[in-house]
Amino acid sequence: MLVEGAIFDADGPRPAYVRIRAGKVFETGQVGTDGTRGRVRRVRGIVLPSPVNGHTHLGDAVSVREPPRESVDRLVGTPASYKFRLLRDTPRTVKRRAIRVALRGMAREGIAGAIDFREEGRPGVELLREAARGSPVRVVALGRPLARPIDTAELRALLEVSDGIGLSSAREESEGSRRTIARACRSAGKRYALHASEATHERTEAYLEPRPDLLVHLAKASRDDLVAVRDEGVPVAVCPRANALFGRQPDLRTMERLGLTVLLGSDNAMLERPSIWRELEFAYTATRLLGRDVSAEFLARAALVAPWEWLGRPRDARIEAGSPARPLVLRLPPEDPAYQIATRVTEHVMVRPPTSLGGTSR
Ligand SMILES: [Zn+2]
Repeated sequence: MLVEGAIFDADGPRPAYVRIRAGKVFETGQVGTDGTRGRVRRVRGIVLPSPVNGHTHLGDAVSVREPPRESVDRLVGTPASYKFRLLRDTPRTVKRRAIRVALRGMAREGIAGAIDFREEGRPGVELLREAARGSPVRVVALGRPLARPIDTAELRALLEVSDGIGLSSAREESEGSRRTIARACRSAGKRYALHASEATHERTEAYLEPRPDLLVHLAKASRDDLVAVRDEGVPVAVCPRANALFGRQPDLRTMERLGLTVLLGSDNAMLERPSIWRELEFAYTATRLLGRDVSAEFLARAALVAPWEWLGRPRDARIEAGSPARPLVLRLPPEDPAYQIATRVTEHVMVRPPTSLGGTSR
């Protein structure tokens, strides 16, 4: 397959042709210079790396009703919240099926991965692993230990099956717990992440010490807080749709201007579908609504580039010959790729290149 139009990847947007073979980038170059002389299928559009959803809670895909209008704490926060009661009262097989359905939807939308905060201790992570078996969506499972004070044997057992730990928030955990968890993650070579300044403002020391690998939200962070986060080099996953349900937004404009590393996530599957395309469109529109515009390129990078860098796989965010990237093709006008990516993508404009030479594409 030959795509004529544009590339959007780690190097930004640019006009190009891309030849794709067996689902991988085989050749790229200036439009009109390919040597295929019409022998391969030709499509006009934009080629991009597959996105990664930077923050999900896929377990709460079990919810099938409009969630009650409660504060975020009462809805999904504390162990007594609506969400945790629902998880506790739902049979394991039903939860597994709900996660599988959510992952199937993500795969249909070309999403290559999700960085998931999985509750319910080690059994919760094992459930997620079972649900994700055979899925093309690579799930990074950040588990949460159940016992407080921290039971080091439980923590160790959890880290055996998880990719790290994702905590509810700094204010819900003692400093001692956070230090124990961060240290255990470090020595196991795994990630330590937590929600921060979501519903209320938290002091940066509470979430930057010990230094996390990822912060989520910062909807209530001040400019000074964001400067501190940038200076520590800690990436931030933002979830504009989930925040909007509670009447708040992350200050994406300041994040862009300060040069923070930002990942885009869809947060609780109970509140929003884990669609990164919907998240992009909402984020773009919401920043305009607030008069806090960001560039479409900043948002596209948060979905397509920053997560791959966070995963330690930066080459997956490059559209070039020999790259391990799984390229997606969008049948959209290639003149302004970042804008199209941020505002116009649905699965209907997506062409998934065949992964074997004899295969067919939709
Ligand atoms: Zn979350």
